[in-house]
Amino acid sequence: MGDIPALQVKEIHKVFGSNEVLKGIDLTAHKGDVISIIGSSGSGKSTFLRCINLLEIPTKGDIVLHGETLHFKHNRQGERVPADKKQVQRIRSKLAMVFQSFNLWSHMTVMDNIIQAPVHVLNVPRKEAEERAKELLNKVGLYERRDYYPAHMSGGQQQRAAIARALAVDPEVMLFDEPTSALDPELVGDVLKVMRNLADEGRTMAVVTHEMSFARDVSSHVMFLHQGVVEEQGTPQKVFGNPDSERMKQFLSPKY
Ligand code: ADP
Ligand code: MG
Repeated sequence: MGDIPALQVKEIHKVFGSNEVLKGIDLTAHKGDVISIIGSSGSGKSTFLRCINLLEIPTKGDIVLHGETLHFKHNRQGERVPADKKQVQRIRSKLAMVFQSFNLWSHMTVMDNIIQAPVHVLNVPRKEAEERAKELLNKVGLYERRDYYPAHMSGGQQQRAAIARALAVDPEVMLFDEPTSALDPELVGDVLKVMRNLADEGRTMAVVTHEMSFARDVSSHVMFLHQGVVEEQGTPQKVFGNPDSERMKQFLSPKY
């Protein structure tokens, strides 16, 4: 048996045209790990997360979810594509992504947003999905807002609703792409608190973030990307306290 990682990413490359955005990135997350991914704008952080959940197809490299390797083939145009649609669905259903821009469905209430995937993808009976949604709404502090439309909530509330929606499929791994970057400063704390609670519960998470205190306090592992390469990585103590890379030191130094 042993200890199968929840997620393994092996030597991921991504090329857009002539631009190699990711140049061989690895990641291993065991159950309960919180991996923070930091780096300047344009370093490839979003592309890396998007490759993990197949919003982008990695040009080279493998994705292994709980021991299951995703199969690729080349189509007639010579592009790399997933070989098995069923497998893609299965793997995607174990991953949930939370975006910077919330991405809630605006024509649906919070409750309806949350139960969509359980009801329509996982075939959970509606009543049962609603009961579970209520628990999740309690967890993110939005039970009272369950019948609101996204436009009538603050950005912080919308993002917490998006986190509840991500949790509704009971994902094995949660991916967060700068979940607090679009928020007014006073709303960031509530969202980070929800994410800290998820980490404390043992959720496996990969989080792209500019919140260095979150990365330092909550992560089990920190990756610093620079121009599509892992420039520095390790424990938060190592990466923040005693980095080897000059670029990492510069990244951390106060900006005026
Ligand atoms: P980050 O999230 O670290 O800011 P991104 O992953 O968004 O970085 O972008 C890394 C690089 O990849 C940038 O140079 C960006 O312009 C390029 N890029 C991202 N997505 C695409 C795309 N769909 N087509 C072409 N270039 C892209
Ligand atoms: Mg990004």
